Amino acid sequence: TDFNDFEMNDNLKRAVKKMGFEEPSPIQSLAIPEALNGRDVVGQSQTGTGKTVAFGIPVLEKIYIPDKSPQAIIICPTRELSIQVATELGKLSQCMEKLHILPVYGGQPIGRQIRVLKKGVHIIIGTPGRIMDHIRRKTLDLSGIETVVLDEADEMLDMGFREDIETILRYTPKKRQTLLFSATFPKAIKKLTKKYQRNPEHLKV
Ligand code: AMP
Repeated sequence: TDFNDFEMNDNLKRAVKKMGFEEPSPIQSLAIPEALNGRDVVGQSQTGTGKTVAFGIPVLEKIYIPDKSPQAIIICPTRELSIQVATELGKLSQCMEKLHILPVYGGQPIGRQIRVLKKGVHIIIGTPGRIMDHIRRKTLDLSGIETVVLDEADEMLDMGFREDIETILRYTPKKRQTLLFSATFPKAIKKLTKKYQRNPEHLKV
């Protein structure tokens, strides 16, 4: 496949070209068409296989800019990964105007995050603990979320984030798209998938 074969807007096609990508990676070829069609996806792939772009494109394609409220939330195990994902989404959205992405993770002053959230953000990227913190303070409204991404889901479960993840998912609308990426597929992930995804397409590379 070619990036131009995906049914995505020209801003995304231009950005992919600017990023220097010649062709989609295997996980991208499999996951992007399914996710663009609205399907829930389990993407079983290691880091370094291009999974960020695999969920980044479907997330960005669905964002409606005039509505300045959180429409997608990407949950990551660590601050480092949150920053990395935010940077990659920044590049992917370089041709989209007025898109606001906010990374939220612990150790960063929460007051600043709250001020940015008040001004309006389309995409939240962050760690379970800090996302929970904002939910408790009622500074983050997840009622308009259309897409949830669980990045490195196996890592998050290993770190003890299962309960936080489930709580966050329950604050989002039932009618949502849930994309789960994980290097491994142990029983605990299978359970999470059964409970929170709708007829997911399991893609493995
Ligand atoms: P990830 O697995 O998302 O951490 O991505 C690993 C690296 O591959 C990142 O530096 C991406 O920018 C890069 N990358 C992602 N998709 C492609 C692609 N289709 N062609 C070349 N490089 C890519």
